[in-house]
Amino acid sequence: MIDSKRFQNDFCAITQFGALENGGVTRLALSKADHEARNYLIKQMQNADLDVHIDPYGNIRGRRAGSDNQLPAVMVGSHLDTVPQGGHYDGIIGVLAALELVRHLNDEQITTQYPIEIINFCCEESSRFGVATLGSKGLTGQLGCAQMRQLRDRDGISFYQALQQSGCSPDAENRSHLSQGEIKAFFELHIEQGPVLEHHQEHLGIVEAIAAPSRFRVTIHGRSDHSGTTPMTMRQDALVAAAQLILGTEQIAQQSSEQSVATIGEIHTQPNVMNVVPGSVSLGVDIRDIDGNRKQRMVAAFQKLVHKVETQSGCRILTEMLCDDVPVQLDETLQQQLIELAQAHQWRYRKMPSGAGHDAMLMARLAPAALIFIPSHDGISHNIAESSSLEDIMRGVTLLSEAVQQSAQG
Ligand SMILES: [Zn+2]
Repeated sequence: MIDSKRFQNDFCAITQFGALENGGVTRLALSKADHEARNYLIKQMQNADLDVHIDPYGNIRGRRAGSDNQLPAVMVGSHLDTVPQGGHYDGIIGVLAALELVRHLNDEQITTQYPIEIINFCCEESSRFGVATLGSKGLTGQLGCAQMRQLRDRDGISFYQALQQSGCSPDAENRSHLSQGEIKAFFELHIEQGPVLEHHQEHLGIVEAIAAPSRFRVTIHGRSDHSGTTPMTMRQDALVAAAQLILGTEQIAQQSSEQSVATIGEIHTQPNVMNVVPGSVSLGVDIRDIDGNRKQRMVAAFQKLVHKVETQSGCRILTEMLCDDVPVQLDETLQQQLIELAQAHQWRYRKMPSGAGHDAMLMARLAPAALIFIPSHDGISHNIAESSSLEDIMRGVTLLSEAVQQSAQG
């Protein structure tokens, strides 16, 4: 039996680590609070008879033997670290779900043919070192020692140093990442972090693809002038040009597809004074889609828009591309498997994209990967008000458990 009491006990225990008086949590990767949570998890994994080890990237991995241990493992997990002032559901649900499914197999004395490995990915959130999914990047061979030394937190401590201080051996990274074929399949359960499932009154989201961003820093150079003496026809107002870019970018995403999004969420104006025509503005632009070609079309439309605004406004506009990541398609056979399991329970599900990045996105490079969402109340996430109902969580845990068991059986 999947035991919701046992699940809740662990949930309550771990959510104490880094808990804030306002109801939220700050459990930055490899901080004291994260270590308390990690140690608690390790103890529970050992109690569940898992063979536990911590890899050079700080990932906590626990293996349950199969009847044929030469076969690749079915891997399942998520992350325990949080953003500052975050909520109690992001990441932890997927880690505890993995733990619970192993305990369930132990209770029922089920031996699967393939081994099962549960994992707590280190440093999934970008909050401490500025880059997300470090543990899964490492595990999949996307992060070398040199980069681990370069990534630093606000206090100047590198990811490499933080790992060493935590008793990990980051120097062993070159011989410890996974290669193709070592994992049979990867499964992750996560909260949706958006409003779609709740809005449509659905129980579960089966993720088809994970969107990736193209990001730009845009700098608009106009001219600062006296706001009273400069006629409207003789201005080079950088903020007016920025406004045109903001509205135009919104329109590009709206006209692209339901799954396209574009956001200008960052703006700095100079000199930012009421009686001066704005002389320069910098913008942060984030364009995302689950379809790579469609994203490229949005990026091209954005660049065309920049050119048009530059010509019309008389301002000089510079764009610098910060990243141009490739969206990840998740495995269709695993999606179908999840759909059939959900249908057998008569649970309402939706096939959907993920607008946020997850460890599953890295794992999908090495193995067939699946990502299951449960509804987030009001779509709120990375916020102390984040929540999901116990019923929804347990539906997710059950679906994950059945899918992993099925996958590990043959
Ligand atoms: Zn997360």
